[in-house]
Amino acid sequence: MTTHWNYPDPALQDELRKIANAIVAPGKGILAADESVSTMGKRLADIGLQNSDDTRRKYRQLLFTTCPSIGDYISGVILFHETLYQKADDGTPFVELLKQRGIIPGIKVDTGVVPLFGANNDESTTQGLDDLGKRCAQYKKDGCHFAKWRCVLKISDHTPSIQALIENANVLARYASICQANRIVPIVEPEILPDGDHDLERCQKVTETVLSYVYKALQDHNVFLEGTLLKPNMVTPGHTAAKATPEQIGAATVTALQRTVPTAVPGIVFLSGGQSEEEATVNLNAMNAYQAKKPWAITFSYGRALQASVLKAWQGKDENVQAGQNELLVRAKANSEASLGKYVAGTVKGKAGDTGLFVKNHAY
Ligand code: 13P
Repeated sequence: MTTHWNYPDPALQDELRKIANAIVAPGKGILAADESVSTMGKRLADIGLQNSDDTRRKYRQLLFTTCPSIGDYISGVILFHETLYQKADDGTPFVELLKQRGIIPGIKVDTGVVPLFGANNDESTTQGLDDLGKRCAQYKKDGCHFAKWRCVLKISDHTPSIQALIENANVLARYASICQANRIVPIVEPEILPDGDHDLERCQKVTETVLSYVYKALQDHNVFLEGTLLKPNMVTPGHTAAKATPEQIGAATVTALQRTVPTAVPGIVFLSGGQSEEEATVNLNAMNAYQAKKPWAITFSYGRALQASVLKAWQGKDENVQAGQNELLVRAKANSEASLGKYVAGTVKGKAGDTGLFVKNHAY
């Protein structure tokens, strides 16, 4: 019977709902520190450092030993597999450092983007389903309570194709279902890349289409929406098109979400997608300041837009650790204020200034 279903049992629903709600508690958001080894290598190369296990460990140690008040602004950190099992110089596991700060550890569980044969213009799907159940069970034992899986969609004259829309929605739904079976809250991330010269309206319509495919697939897979989070792109004009104002971006993004994201979803945690730190903060603020029906928390899950100034201040030097941590703290606080619609533009000036963080055809 097509209408026969199986939602998680009440205890599991309760557990998933509590985790998701804690992540999007008022004034809190996520630090995405799940750069793969090669992506981290690019960030380190930007400040003249070698991509060694120990440099990556030292950098993540800087992030996770930031003073405990970081926990007032950051509720969750997304880790990369390697980082989950690393320790600070004094032997304290990173997971323990996060717990001490009241931060929930999460984990990136996809294994990367691959070309979608037969689709248009280098469209892609994301791999990692085969042993996902086993890996999720282990990650839960090792202290992770939420996960991330990133799918990528592209805007061009002929994309996203129906093939890419269906495939990426379905793989996200299957991932979400496997996470929930293992007591892990899935962050569902269908990222529409900013590459291109399309206008704001095109991005809005494509975002609405992508999200409607995603929520249809989540329904088809009986995913318990109260125990999920959505990580979308903001609705913006393409990278090479004329910029829109934060107010236009806020209105277009909230409208796209209203049309597609069910009220049962507790929160929307945006990626920064190559915006500068300040742009990402100001645009998040604009969404929260925009007067409209908004049944979900609207907050951040930033990678580049929380780390650009930290890396710049650190430069790989022990004597700069504190300066790097200060950058993280002030930018996290700015985003916390933006998630409440209370950030005043220009009041936090990071070391990275207003540098755009766009990366062509971005991988993570
Ligand atoms: P950015 O904020 O750098 O876009 O990355 C967030 C993320 O986790 C992308 O998957």
